[in-house]
Amino acid sequence: MNKLSEIQGYFEKTCECDLKKSALRAVWGSGNPQAKIVFIGEAPGKKEDETGIPFVGAAGKFLSKMLESISLTREDVYITNIVKYRPPENRDPTDKEKEQCRDWLTAELNHIKPLLIVFLGRHSMNHFFPQLIISQAHGKIINATIEGINTKHFLPLYHPAAALYNGSLREALLKDFKKIPILLKKIGMQ
Ligand code: URA
Repeated sequence: MNKLSEIQGYFEKTCECDLKKSALRAVWGSGNPQAKIVFIGEAPGKKEDETGIPFVGAAGKFLSKMLESISLTREDVYITNIVKYRPPENRDPTDKEKEQCRDWLTAELNHIKPLLIVFLGRHSMNHFFPQLIISQAHGKIINATIEGINTKHFLPLYHPAAALYNGSLREALLKDFKKIPILLKKIGMQ
């Protein structure tokens, strides 16, 4: 499969995620297939389920604003989720559901081969680094090798939805976000 859309189509057909039964549709990752940065959220919410586009609700608008603040648009980056289907009532996805969507996410990441993967929230971070605690790990670059994935640099951030209504998380997220262009420059020069 040479094109990202072929990968998405293939996994939409073959993915056996239990959430397929209750969700309206799959929410594919979106953005630039040649992006240097990939953002990974948790799971689609109501708006995403309705539109099929990740991060289009309140948290997504906040994410777009933060991207603008570092002179990036959504077309410069690629945004996706651990789980591609909305969990009922926006509950947390289960470990089984995350596992059922794992190959899909891995295929997206290995097609794009970003320099940097940014985890939006603890679910996303713990999918790859189960031992880390978001309140300690946010804003700190992780240089690591993960089996099956080309990318070597990872940045955990608070989830924009959590930060929307919590002043101190919001402040931390805005501060951490500003590190992205600096990190990219450093990584790109390595
Ligand atoms: N929150 C997420 O984690 N993903 C989305 O797509 C929307 C909200």
